[in-house]
Amino acid sequence: MPELPEVETTRRGLEPVLVGQRIRTAIVRNGRLRFRVPPQLPRFVAGATIRALERRGKYLLAHCGAGTLILHLGMSGRLWIVDANAPLLPHDHFDLVLENGTVVRMRDPRRFGLVLWQRGDPMKHALLARIGPEPLSAEFSGAWLHRVTRKRDAAIKNILMDGHVVAGIGNIYANEALYRARINPRTPAGRLSLARCTLLGKKIRETLELAINAGGSSLRDYVGSDGMTGNYQTQFMVYDRAGEPCRRCGARIRAMRQGQRSTFYCPRCQRR
Ligand SMILES: [Zn+2]
Repeated sequence: MPELPEVETTRRGLEPVLVGQRIRTAIVRNGRLRFRVPPQLPRFVAGATIRALERRGKYLLAHCGAGTLILHLGMSGRLWIVDANAPLLPHDHFDLVLENGTVVRMRDPRRFGLVLWQRGDPMKHALLARIGPEPLSAEFSGAWLHRVTRKRDAAIKNILMDGHVVAGIGNIYANEALYRARINPRTPAGRLSLARCTLLGKKIRETLELAINAGGSSLRDYVGSDGMTGNYQTQFMVYDRAGEPCRRCGARIRAMRQGQRSTFYCPRCQRR
């Protein structure tokens, strides 16, 4: 599933193509995504100029003055830049057509993605209003993490996966950051000292930045908006490496389930 670095990679790929351009129309071929695409969407966007393309958590926000186009890639979504005459493939559900002929096409086999329109402030949309701070923003830090986790018994891994605490870190990068900070994923969050929270905050930022610089991770069929694949998956320390030797100490990486998601960790480097 596209996580924060993949969505940010997509944003960086689309930004120079979209910003400053006028939208000619939008074509909805299949509006049955996670929520129904508003049938009036083509009317809302036609003639609007895209002023900025922002990311909030795993949502992409194309600011168009009076309103904002909100996009989410769900489990399997991709946004491609294609020519106006590019052949349609199965699962090509949505096109944003620019005045200059460029088409941004959304392909989403599993249809958990989103295409929505919000008038006025997009951050007031119910999906965006309660998202926690961005992990790459100044607002997020180890000290902040320490403050908000006091008296919380939940495992630190589950806390990092909670979008209301911190926006969209995602499973891969939560696993990788905990390994880099040498913290056992089951540790109750409230028991982490300020020093360990500070280290964890730093490692979260570092992990996400490394992944963004590598163009994200290519798992299954993820590719960036230019059709290129990211390569961060070659640098995974623990994710998807169960049974393989730890790159630091040689112990076998273990897998377990936490909150319905796979957790990977080194039993020696990440002792409880
Ligand atoms: Zn190890």
